[in-house]
Amino acid sequence: MPQATPKLNAFPVFMRVEGEAVAIVGGGEEALAKARLIGQSSAVLRIVSDAAEPELLAFIATNGAAIHIAAAYDAAHLEGAVMVFAASGNEALDRRVAEDARRLGIPVNAVDRPELCDFFTPALVNRAPVAIAIGTEGAGPVLAQMLRSRIDRMLSPSLGPLASLAASLRGTAERLLPKGNARRRFWSDFFGGSPARAMAAGQLSQAHDAAVDLLLSNAPASGHVALVGAGPGAEDLLTLRAHRLLMEADVIVHDALVPEAIVAMGRRAAERLPVGKRKGCHTKSQAEINALLIELGRDGKRVVRLKSGDPLVFGRAGEEMAALRDAGVAYEVVPGVTAAFAAAADFELPLTLRGVSSSMVFTTGHDLKGNSLPDWAKLAISGATVAVYMGRSVAAEVAGRLIEAGLSPDTAVAVVENASLANRRRFHGTLADLPSLEVRADLTGPVMTIIGDAVAGANFERSEPLAAHRHEGAAQTAAEGAER
Ligand code: SAH
Repeated sequence: MPQATPKLNAFPVFMRVEGEAVAIVGGGEEALAKARLIGQSSAVLRIVSDAAEPELLAFIATNGAAIHIAAAYDAAHLEGAVMVFAASGNEALDRRVAEDARRLGIPVNAVDRPELCDFFTPALVNRAPVAIAIGTEGAGPVLAQMLRSRIDRMLSPSLGPLASLAASLRGTAERLLPKGNARRRFWSDFFGGSPARAMAAGQLSQAHDAAVDLLLSNAPASGHVALVGAGPGAEDLLTLRAHRLLMEADVIVHDALVPEAIVAMGRRAAERLPVGKRKGCHTKSQAEINALLIELGRDGKRVVRLKSGDPLVFGRAGEEMAALRDAGVAYEVVPGVTAAFAAAADFELPLTLRGVSSSMVFTTGHDLKGNSLPDWAKLAISGATVAVYMGRSVAAEVAGRLIEAGLSPDTAVAVVENASLANRRRFHGTLADLPSLEVRADLTGPVMTIIGDAVAGANFERSEPLAAHRHEGAAQTAAEGAER
């Protein structure tokens, strides 16, 4: 059977006293001893005595936080204090003070009269902010003082400043170091290693520097992934922010659609990882890309995940963000010029046109296969401008379903291949011409299709008719579209 540890009859606690009043009643040696003890804290001493001895008066005079109430004791002198010491040396008066304090609900200590005490004061080893309090209950002051001086010798005088430095770094350490081993290791090196040694030698700023070095060397490299829109292809449509991140990147993970010229704008030393997404190329699955981004982030790399156009438009950024979030890898999103805007600009095509179209749809057309019409088709019928991404292979499906649903076959259509790039090509026509896109072998670049009456507001001077057989009719049809 393990032996039960004997119980303490007085339990040590640390009471907040900063700026609080502590009342000491008495003018002699006992009062001075308590004043010296409490004077080691940031409490305000309120010393009540009409007959203070010279030594106590001298203490009061030199201690900025001591107030002398030179009057005969009155219970009112205790009001608002957080602790009271009955230290008059006069039994009757000490008893009165103790009773008054108790009535006011203030813990009291009466010197040498344990039966009147709510609390006892410890023998104190002070290395503020570190305090070691020694209590011996009834065993007497000699034991307490012996232990005090023994412990005092064990502890470096620099423990206080070292602890203050620790307190000032705690928030940063908690932010930079994961809970558990890394944090524990840091603190044990802090208190036992170079910061402690520098502090012991009285070199405060070296101690601080050593602590910061230690902190950084213990911190896991914190990687960061930026999901960056590269724009439609033209280098000068890249945002300044995208450019800055590319210049700071350790790794650039890019889609096949991002032109080489933009990838090349990254930091020379950056590693470049193509992740495909183009027919014919070796492509990574989305799950593999997610895993790659997480791995790079955890490795502490600054990663730019470069996507064509805007990363949040048909860029599968949603999945990548969710994976990064779940993995606890920091990320940000940098918008880019999406293909629809670049195509519209190339065509001088107002995506919203006063009195004609005031809403716009971004779609792929790949959701038109089912029986029911998706919502966007209804929007198209009610006049929205529709931008179709990845629409080449479903051009016939898109046109057929929209016409079937009630959109006029004469509705204007604009098509841009390689929008924003020098080799761009523009085509105009009607919904009825759209299926021809699918069978054209000459369109090898990315293609953006814009459908709707607002297309009629575009500039057709530099565009070719979409279908050769409707050569002359196309521009006119587009104009008709605007009149409907
Ligand atoms: N996040 C991209 C879209 C990616 S989906 C964006 O915001 O633009 C890929 C589709 O975008 C292509 O199939 C094509 O329809 C369109 N696209 C991208 N770049 C293009 C360009 N320069 N010209 C025309 N269409 C483009």
